[in-house]
Amino acid sequence: MEDQKTCCTCGKTKPVEEFVSKRTQCKPCKAIKSQQWRDANKPLNQACQRAAYYKRKAKALQEN
Ligand SMILES: [Zn+2]
Repeated sequence: MEDQKTCCTCGKTKPVEEFVSKRTQCKPCKAIKSQQWRDANKPLNQACQRAAYYKRKAKALQEN
């Protein structure tokens, strides 16, 4: 069936509603994966987000 996709992470075939569009990973797998990634990369991620925030802020100030 066209409205079913196979998840590349858990290998299960599920309805497309279980997938984020254009992704080959189902929503539960994606949630687990991103949670693990966040846990593993917490300090790095925070630093990264702060840097991105200041970068945006500096750019916004320049544009005004
Ligand atoms: Zn899956």
